Amino acid sequence: MLNRQELKDKKRIVIKIGSSSLTHTETGSINLLKMEKLVRVLTDLQNQGKDVILVSSGAIAVGREAFGLREKPKEKPMKQACAAVGQARLMMVYQKLFAEYNQIPAQILMTKYTMIDDISRENAQNTFEELFKMGVIPIVNENDTVATDEIEFGDNDTLSAIVTALVHGDLLILLSDIDGLYTDDPHKNPEAKFIDYVEVIDDSLIEMGKGSNSLVGTGGMSTKISAARIATDSGADMVIANGDDVYVINEIIEGNNVGTLFKAHKGSDFVLLDYISTNQYH
Ligand code: GLU
Repeated sequence: MLNRQELKDKKRIVIKIGSSSLTHTETGSINLLKMEKLVRVLTDLQNQGKDVILVSSGAIAVGREAFGLREKPKEKPMKQACAAVGQARLMMVYQKLFAEYNQIPAQILMTKYTMIDDISRENAQNTFEELFKMGVIPIVNENDTVATDEIEFGDNDTLSAIVTALVHGDLLILLSDIDGLYTDDPHKNPEAKFIDYVEVIDDSLIEMGKGSNSLVGTGGMSTKISAARIATDSGADMVIANGDDVYVINEIIEGNNVGTLFKAHKGSDFVLLDYISTNQYH
């Protein structure tokens, strides 16, 4: 069993926050207080000498708010139009908040193609390394405005795990609207039990990962479990925790028993491409 205290020594940390954690449930508008806290926590990690990446959703949600749409857009062109408007707004808010702490953020937008193509993948990797050297916090999202079904990851759980593997991160934190992994959907089954530690991701665990109840985000529990498989196989520990209070990030890194911890399994034969389905693309 992994000692949670080991999380204190993690050097390269990827944190993923979903749209449902960044917006107010009632209105769909940006939760500024939460973003402000998140930016402070991330800057402080960077001040401690850690390399930090934020994978932030919210482009479509923020764009939808800008257009005054009550419903989630269904058609792809409308989603992409929302993302085009929303991503810029989202970055504007991040820039402003990070500037208060003299922290430089950067924007990295990716598609599956970025990972499949050897040159693009290497370029992305080099960019991350250079940004870390400069003390920058990269903010990653899928490039929704150009991603089509063939080249989209579709959810940022998967994207954040792939980014973790790409940069050889040693910890991935998925901030969700649920405390972690349960034996069943706790919204429907009051008997559902919380699982605080996962040593190995086996078939029964995958079975447990039912769909999510989230209205705003895209990833359910099963996408989180497949993200855990990618991250842990690549050599990173992963924690799913409730992003309701972003100070949970500090608690995790202090080694407190919060969220569900998935233990890393460093395989010497890890090949990132094997985890990205390329069949649709080629
Ligand atoms: N890339 C999408 C966005 O920023 C979100 C994907 C996700 O929530 O997993 O709106």
